[in-house]
Amino acid sequence: MAEFDVAIIGAGAAGIGAAGQLMAAGKSVVVLEAGARIGGRAWTSSDWFGMPFDIGCAWLHAADRNPFFPEAQAAGWELYHHDMALDHLYFGARKATPDEMERLREAEAALEACLEAHDGPDDRLSSLIADCHCLRAHSTFSGPMDFGKDDDEISVEDYRAAADLEPNYFTKQGFGALVAHWAGDLPVRLNHAVRRVDWSGSGVEVSGDWGWLRARACICTASPAVLAFDEIRFTPTLPEDQVEALFDLPMGLLTKIPLQISGTRLGLSPFDDLLIERHARHDIFFLSFPFDMDLMVGFVGGDFAWELEAAGEAAAVDFATNRLAEIFGSDMRRHVSGGRMTDWSSDRWVRGAYAVARPGKAAARERAGRSVGDRVFFAGEHLAGPLKQTCAGARLSGEDVAGQVLAALG
Ligand SMILES: Cc1cc2nc3c(=O)[nH]c(=O)nc-3n(C[C@H](O)[C@H](O)[C@H](O)COP(=O)(O)OP(=O)(O)OC[C@H]3O[C@@H](n4cnc5c(N)ncnc54)[C@H](O)[C@@H]3O)c2cc1C
Repeated sequence: MAEFDVAIIGAGAAGIGAAGQLMAAGKSVVVLEAGARIGGRAWTSSDWFGMPFDIGCAWLHAADRNPFFPEAQAAGWELYHHDMALDHLYFGARKATPDEMERLREAEAALEACLEAHDGPDDRLSSLIADCHCLRAHSTFSGPMDFGKDDDEISVEDYRAAADLEPNYFTKQGFGALVAHWAGDLPVRLNHAVRRVDWSGSGVEVSGDWGWLRARACICTASPAVLAFDEIRFTPTLPEDQVEALFDLPMGLLTKIPLQISGTRLGLSPFDDLLIERHARHDIFFLSFPFDMDLMVGFVGGDFAWELEAAGEAAAVDFATNRLAEIFGSDMRRHVSGGRMTDWSSDRWVRGAYAVARPGKAAARERAGRSVGDRVFFAGEHLAGPLKQTCAGARLSGEDVAGQVLAALG
């Protein structure tokens, strides 16, 4: 039976961050990863288009506080500062007027003022958003495209506690590739799904179909949805209020639909942001030709993303192509040589994009993150304070929890 100081469940940014800190402190560590690769939701692949494409995280948010940013700079990776201001807005096929663009900018300021002034009970974010179509266009960013949830499913307090993510950068080589590069040669065991954590004894015993091992402590970085779906059985069970907190942090969903478009740039410049607002939240955002690659990357979020992932890749690619054809003319279709869809909803070991507190449930993050028995600890994007939902936040959460584990182990 193998003995380690710490067993870490999950080789995403949080797990890798924790492992690095613990090993630097001289602890013996094993990282158990259910999937066949390192990185979790940080995943760059060239398989789709023959060039690096981020299937998971892509923006290096909050670059001034993001430890990946100086590392990317030091490694000489190509970085691009992305100004998030919207370049093109359409309501269906109709281009927004200059006046509507101005009202959109005002809507952003209005929402921020409402958030600042809000001192009532924690409510739905939608309660602060009046029914004006420019304000709704802004709320598409704050809701589905940002939090991966429609604004009536987001807690005002949870939203308000999120950090401003400026400045934002992309890297041409891919954020997932950066995370994998940073992971180096940590002791990760792939295809090792953990199904049980027994902390009834003095240490922790973790096990799965692959066997079992013992450690003095364990750090679990699985998403709250993985835990809510009982993929890991804890013995003794976790406290009831902690289990409830996992259900109060359901996963939002963000789906990317990259279209390969060659022979035209549709009159757009690389990195232009284009939002097409439609009815009933069937909105789509496009990032245009990043790094001058032949890609228009579509994004849908919230309930519509779950619908579209269930409908499948062909339906999603048709949907995205139709939206562009409505605006740029049917002739553009002959330039579309392919398209793909990300599918995080059906990744059994993630089950969505990132966690969002239900209205009235902002305190769930603190409860979900409590350690038990001074030997079972939790980390991940959902426990990353103001940088929640981000890859940098996940890493910092893992590094922070590693410090708590070191203190507990003495
Ligand atoms: C489509 C999309 C776009 C995003 N865009 C951005 C962005 O632009 N910028 C940004 O900063 N963030 C973005 N994010 C969020 C970011 O990717 C995540 O916040 C971050 O990568 C999460 O890291 P983590 O370590 O907490 O979790 P994960 O990366 O999910 O790592 C957890 C790991 O645990 C493994 N695991 C789960 N259960 C078990 C088990 N029982 N046994 C063993 N292993 C298990 C999983 O396979 C996974 O590898 C995006 C996410 C998605 C899905």
